[in-house]
Amino acid sequence: MALFANNPDRTSWLHVDKNSDFPIQNIPFGVFLTRDDIITIGTRIGDTAIDLGALHQLGYFDGIPLTDDIFLQDTLNDFIADGRKTWRAVRNRIAEIFDVENKTLKNNTKHKETILFRLDEIEMQLPVQVGDYTDFYSSIEHATNVGTMFRDPDNALLPNWLHIPVGYHGRSSSIIPSGIPVHRPQGQTLPNGASEPVFGPSKLVDFELEMAFITTDANDLGEPIPIEESEEYIFGLVLLNDWSARDIQKWEYVPLGPFLAKNFASSISPWIVTLDALEPYRVESPKPLKKQLDYLKYKGKKSYDINLEVAIQPQGAKENIVSNSNFKYMYWNMVQQLAHHTVNGCPVNSGDLMGSGTISGPTEGSYGSMLELSWRGEKPLKMKDGTERKFINDNDTVIMRGYCEKDGTRIGFGEVSNKLLPVYKK
Ligand code: MN
Repeated sequence: MALFANNPDRTSWLHVDKNSDFPIQNIPFGVFLTRDDIITIGTRIGDTAIDLGALHQLGYFDGIPLTDDIFLQDTLNDFIADGRKTWRAVRNRIAEIFDVENKTLKNNTKHKETILFRLDEIEMQLPVQVGDYTDFYSSIEHATNVGTMFRDPDNALLPNWLHIPVGYHGRSSSIIPSGIPVHRPQGQTLPNGASEPVFGPSKLVDFELEMAFITTDANDLGEPIPIEESEEYIFGLVLLNDWSARDIQKWEYVPLGPFLAKNFASSISPWIVTLDALEPYRVESPKPLKKQLDYLKYKGKKSYDINLEVAIQPQGAKENIVSNSNFKYMYWNMVQQLAHHTVNGCPVNSGDLMGSGTISGPTEGSYGSMLELSWRGEKPLKMKDGTERKFINDNDTVIMRGYCEKDGTRIGFGEVSNKLLPVYKK
């Protein structure tokens, strides 16, 4: 099925600002609470949220095989499980309905009243129920920076890194949407020079600039997904802030990797931008530095040119851009990650979330964590209000944004923005 929805020449009868992340070519999917306190699945054009449940009830998806309640749910899991053909048919239809030439809904005031919402009338929810969350470690710049700081600059990458898309299983219970505040975690740390740990608030709370892909039902137990089929099982992407407590991490991570340093919160942007919408922004991945095993070899462009930025906004002050990076820097791409994840027969389900790992670029201003940007705290960053940051302070808001732009069409992700609150008190 052709991607009519991506037609760059199409305009909508809904207003779209010139620099909007959500032109009619985007058509992302999300879940929101309406002014009437109803949860529904929706999309967005410009600053208008569109209730897909209402559109479906009013017959606008006639001819597309969809169950009656597919959009009247509090997660996208079932819709995602319907597969790529359905996602495409629905995106194409939405493009038609809101095309500037189509007067059907445009001239139906009654229908518009139940279908369209201003953004201040809705509250975005988590778009999927995440069954399993995996986080990779796929940026060579990030892995090199961390290896240089904590081990040995001459052997910054561990021997497996150029052979395996390294990852770990995270925790889905603490995945939250943009807007939900995060409390500074407490835990065990080993103070410098001490031989015994202490308990208390983490002093080194950090962000990790990541993107994450969301999968559909992909395989049965025991069945690997060949790399050339992997893309079929990727629904779309979101921005991910994988909050991290560096002092807790340093003490706990040997030998089994991150645990409480990572599972206190991971926040995602609420609109899932489909892989289909990102089609025009494909680029080559970095060339492998070492021969890769056959199951990890792929053909074609499997990376995406997505500009990323991170801002820190101290309470009551202006925001400060602290990093500009790009998703295209990832050494291991998504098809390699998914092929590797399932090569042993591990099943992947609809709504699983796969984090890229911290996305650091080649220059100091493109690093994806405060750990790297401030180089362990040795080079504090200056804020516009005169304060400095080595890591994240209480009441700072961390904001991540991402967008693609080519030939005058911009497709974006909006933002993931969460405030760090002081330690939880009952
Ligand atoms: Mn991470």
